[in-house]
Amino acid sequence: HAPSPTVTLDHRFARDLPELAVAWQAEDTPAPALLALNDSLAVELGLDPDWLRSPAGIGLLTGTDVPDGATPVAQAYAGHQFGGYSPRLGDGRALLLGELTDSFGRIRDLHLKGSGRTPFSRGGDGLAAVGPMLREYVISEAMHALGIPTTRSLAVVATGRGVHRETVQPGAVLARVAGSHLRVGSFQYAAATGDVDLLRRLADHAIARHHPEAAEAEQPYDALFRAVVAAQASLVARWMLVGFIHGVMNTDNMTISGESIDYGPCAFMEAVDPATVYSSIDTGGRYSYANQPVAAEWNLARFAESLLPLLAETQDEGVAIATESLRTFRGHYAAVWSAGMRAKLGLAGAPDDATTSQLGTDLVALLQADRVDHTSFFRALGAAARGDAEPARGLFLDLEGFDAWTARWLALGPDATAMDRVNPVYIPRNHLVEEALTAATSGDLDPLGRLLSVVSQPYDVRPGLERYAEPAPDSFGDYRTFCGT
Ligand code: AMP
Ligand code: MG
Ligand code: MG
Repeated sequence: HAPSPTVTLDHRFARDLPELAVAWQAEDTPAPALLALNDSLAVELGLDPDWLRSPAGIGLLTGTDVPDGATPVAQAYAGHQFGGYSPRLGDGRALLLGELTDSFGRIRDLHLKGSGRTPFSRGGDGLAAVGPMLREYVISEAMHALGIPTTRSLAVVATGRGVHRETVQPGAVLARVAGSHLRVGSFQYAAATGDVDLLRRLADHAIARHHPEAAEAEQPYDALFRAVVAAQASLVARWMLVGFIHGVMNTDNMTISGESIDYGPCAFMEAVDPATVYSSIDTGGRYSYANQPVAAEWNLARFAESLLPLLAETQDEGVAIATESLRTFRGHYAAVWSAGMRAKLGLAGAPDDATTSQLGTDLVALLQADRVDHTSFFRALGAAARGDAEPARGLFLDLEGFDAWTARWLALGPDATAMDRVNPVYIPRNHLVEEALTAATSGDLDPLGRLLSVVSQPYDVRPGLERYAEPAPDSFGDYRTFCGT
């Protein structure tokens, strides 16, 4: 029963922050079956993929057979959900198994989702269904392949237990890997206890793990805040450039590391439309495509509030410092977005001046007006840089507008080869994800495997994969994704 002796889990989080960690056990799994295993990530973590496929390995991946001395914990956190504050959220269906040191010497959390009820479960069952866990696996791995900071997915194991949703679904546990699971909501929780020593230990833990340069700063906690502001501004700009819509940007779903986390009702935008929302619960459009930078900034203001006791002696001084630092968000965001847009247009070497920035802005307006497919357009534009404008042109109704814009753009000498390295051909399109999950839920894992291999190499056109590069057929209809399943 002893797992591989090579698996050594540390417990820095629980050691440094016992007030935020409740020791807990995963629920047993009646009939565990491995549905997906990320071999290359396993190797990166120093875990043997063949061993992970064995019963003992699967025991680790479900938390039912953890190494001797390991103490899984449920983490406490609070959070603003759609603007309303919940003082006690926490891991209601998740556990931190511990931390691993990967082959690059980085500390990574090994975490489970769907591992049963915990003291934070409230009314929930603590479980997760196969479909949503495979969804997180596909989307997070696609994001990683796109070069966007993200939590990773190591495995999905079906538990053999039924999960009651609208219907009874097969249950699963996702093994997730992250730089850490520290969130804005972790700081909100610590601040709300009124224990400034706990808050300081949390901030020191975050600095040590994610932003070590802040420790050297004159005001380390302001430096931590600024580092998180920069990381999140950059992250959200990257989402925008690829058309990613997170869907639930609550403060408990925003990391201190700057990694994307918690792939629930998220999706990639097809037709460019700033108001795009996929989440069935986001009826007000709070987390629509275009609102994401504002939502991030709002969350960072909540982070600043929780840090106030560490920023200065008085509240007023703290607010002044935090306000000044939060102002850096817009500059960071604009810099990453415009550099990214220039790269998408093959103009990475061009100056960041009024001409290129106007070009980007005008393009967005054209794409929006004709509801052009975001991903297809940027990839087709690479062909236009090579002299064949037809594939891109064919996506527009406003041909005059497209031609005028293209003439201005071509005059700047775009680099087609560079464009093909930053504009993906393949993203996890919603209809393909649904198709793969539906098949997987009824036992056919082939479409999932194919989709994963396609989105894991997003920039390389391969013959025979045309349907993976095309937008959803009209018959797919309005897409909605569901939370908390
Ligand atoms: P999320 O919307 O995934 O960010 O989750 C928000 C909160 O709800 C977290 O505290 C989760 O742990 C909790 N939660 C979500 N689904 C469940 C569930 N099935 N059982 C218990 N807690 C849950
Ligand atoms: Mg969450
Ligand atoms: Mg979730």
